[in-house]
Amino acid sequence: MKKIAIYPGSFDPITNGHIDLIKRASKLFDTVIIGITQNSKKPSFLTIDDRLKGAKDALTDIHTIKVMSFDTLLVDFAKTQNAQIILRGLRAVSDFEYEFQLSGMNKHLNPHIETLFMTPAEQYANISSSLVREILSLGGDISSFVPTNIEALLKEKI
Ligand code: ADP
Repeated sequence: MKKIAIYPGSFDPITNGHIDLIKRASKLFDTVIIGITQNSKKPSFLTIDDRLKGAKDALTDIHTIKVMSFDTLLVDFAKTQNAQIILRGLRAVSDFEYEFQLSGMNKHLNPHIETLFMTPAEQYANISSSLVREILSLGGDISSFVPTNIEALLKEKI
């Protein structure tokens, strides 16, 4: 059976931290699906099309990934994709409480899907999409936090 993992998130924008995790995960699974949440109630900085294109363009060198959007329950999306694993990233202890709760809820909703946590390389542990947006809005240099196509896309947007 092929091992398929879903890595869900807003990816608003995708950062070097996300990419580090995806590269590590793609060595462990046959396919990693980057599932970008399309939540009309949660406003995003980038449109869903920009987030999809941005992630696809940033990951062209990894051939075992797919980039998709979804607007359903995560466990339902995982089931439609035949994924057995939900992958989430842990940067610091502060991520733990929310992630623990989320994985518990998802396990309750579908006990057949496991959540796995991975940590990024140390140099990426402080990167978050929200901090990247904040630094960008204040005119700071974001080039070490995001790939070049995303830096260009973000600069276009402000
Ligand atoms: P969400 O809005 O669902 O938290 P994000 O796009 O912010 O979506 O993050 C998706 C996942 O990636 C989450 O599990 C988050 O903890 C993880 N993540 C975010 N930034 C990093 C990073 N720098 N290193 C490793 N994992 C990260």
